[in-house]
Amino acid sequence: MTPRTPLAPVLSRFWDEPEPWSLDTYHRNDGYRGLARALTMTPDEVIALVRDSGLRGRGGAGFPTGTKWSFINQDDPKPHYLVVNADESEPGTCKDVPLMLTTPHFLIEGMIIASYAIRAHHAFIYVRGEVVSVLRRLQAAVVEAYAAGYLGRDIGGPGFDLELTVHAGAGAYICGEETALLDSLEGRRGQPRLRPPFPAVAGLYACPTVVNNVESIASVPPILLNGTEWFTSMGSEKSPGSTLYSLSGHVNQPGQYEAPLGITLRELLEYAGGVRTGHELKFWTPGGSSTPLLTAEHLDVPLDYEGVAGAGSMLGTKALQIFDETTCVVRAVRRWTQFYAHESCGKCTPCREGTYWLSQIYERLESGCGTSADLGRLLDISDTLNGKSFCALGDGAASPIMSSLRHFRGEYEAHVRAGCPFDPAASMLTATEWAGV
Ligand code: SF4
Repeated sequence: MTPRTPLAPVLSRFWDEPEPWSLDTYHRNDGYRGLARALTMTPDEVIALVRDSGLRGRGGAGFPTGTKWSFINQDDPKPHYLVVNADESEPGTCKDVPLMLTTPHFLIEGMIIASYAIRAHHAFIYVRGEVVSVLRRLQAAVVEAYAAGYLGRDIGGPGFDLELTVHAGAGAYICGEETALLDSLEGRRGQPRLRPPFPAVAGLYACPTVVNNVESIASVPPILLNGTEWFTSMGSEKSPGSTLYSLSGHVNQPGQYEAPLGITLRELLEYAGGVRTGHELKFWTPGGSSTPLLTAEHLDVPLDYEGVAGAGSMLGTKALQIFDETTCVVRAVRRWTQFYAHESCGKCTPCREGTYWLSQIYERLESGCGTSADLGRLLDISDTLNGKSFCALGDGAASPIMSSLRHFRGEYEAHVRAGCPFDPAASMLTATEWAGV
């Protein structure tokens, strides 16, 4: 059956061309024409256009990008900064890395436009240091952009200067939290800051700063080039545009699928060849491991911000991890819990202590030493984390636990009675399947 919603490749439309990362290829595909248009407008007009497009942040929270830019006090005499959060590290999330690796100039052009709009003369990309191939690709693309006159002094004519720095982070998940990222960029230990003041008022070096996700900024050049009507013709009224959905796990053709917001998982699975052959969907994450789990009941939920919230979860980073019936949900949630315990920055007690206790309980459950009271403890500790921690890592740690207990309580009770009933080898991907991930 043909899916009802067609795919809408915008950022991924020339990924199959030879060397899609090069400036030549980017030029052949309308590269830097959006910037040319932006430079014929005033900075305020650029902000208004991005706001009118309805573009929402693609990093998880979905905050309107143009509105975020407008929070910068343009009369503040301090330097203004743009910082791109490229510290992608949520389990399951894998959209910004392929985007930067394949078409880095979308990001660089978007950064130049955004910097022009917010009157910034220095912009930073904070990229996860472990992904050395991406770091090198970005650095090479920045060199190309300088050589072509898109960065440096008097860009597109006198008066607009911009320096762009690529900064490699040291690999802490918490540095994906925007204020921890700013601390890390300043050379300090990455821990979230108390807000207010928000970064728009006192961000990098206590100056007005916009922090945006990679995909959000990369989406800006096509909007400048094609206009707001084109952008709002895709997606839903409150969540316009197209976006990258990342399918991974027990699916026949894992990968990036760029489609209008509001497409359903049922349709995406049809594009991706379905759940692993001979198996059926058990549960899935709509936006990485920190978003509440959904099940086969939710296959027709529109994958936009409102649709997924209505189903009791969050769109997050659109990292759709697919798990079939061979997967032990307790084991899967235990792995994520161990991750959050490891990555907790230790600043606040509910998360520092709670994530540690949670991983101890999961160890008992999986080894057959858990009790019924442990299930209540999981919920109590999760409730203490959820909404009561200093930053969203605490909420993210609690979400898979609370949602898995809601949907699969019987499976938890089976673990209490007799330990894990699943064969760990059964849910593993074959070598061929892994090669496709
Ligand atoms: Fe640090 Fe966790 Fe508290 Fe966030 S919730 S500040 S990661 S201890």
